[in-house]
Amino acid sequence: MQRLIVDMDGVLADAHAQFLAFDERDTKRRKTLAETLDKSELEISPRSNEHILLPGFFRDAPVIGNSPEVLERLNRQYDLYIVSAATEYPTSLVEKIAWLAEHFPFITWHQIVFCGSKKIVRGDIMIDDHFKNLDYFEGRTLLFTQPHNHSANPKHHQRVHSWDEIARLLL
Ligand SMILES: [Mg+2]
Repeated sequence: MQRLIVDMDGVLADAHAQFLAFDERDTKRRKTLAETLDKSELEISPRSNEHILLPGFFRDAPVIGNSPEVLERLNRQYDLYIVSAATEYPTSLVEKIAWLAEHFPFITWHQIVFCGSKKIVRGDIMIDDHFKNLDYFEGRTLLFTQPHNHSANPKHHQRVHSWDEIARLLL
């Protein structure tokens, strides 16, 4: 059985939507998608480093697309692990566990890995939205499209735009 490594923020959890929502609370204006393309969180909102520490930032994040349905099917066919570089934000750990339990109840605690760096992660396939994680992975790498990587050259990674596309590739 192949080992599949799946990221949380920007792949399962819509962290981008949370950055926009928290920025809108401050500025009273919702930034458009066009204003955020290819920008880092700090470029989108100068207070994003504060927002990410606020209660609810991770717990209330919207689910991306039909990831629960596709991941449930993948969970039957792969040795699946959710790997999140979360320890930079200790308060996020409890929120992320609760969020996964609500939206992905078929994921057991054995399958949840919170770490600092993903350089130590080994497996056959990694799905992630950041080059800093994919670039070190020795297996097959899928770059999940998010506003921040919208125009980036995917290099040797395979770009995927949706969970339907992932389902077509991996199921
Ligand atoms: Mg991510």
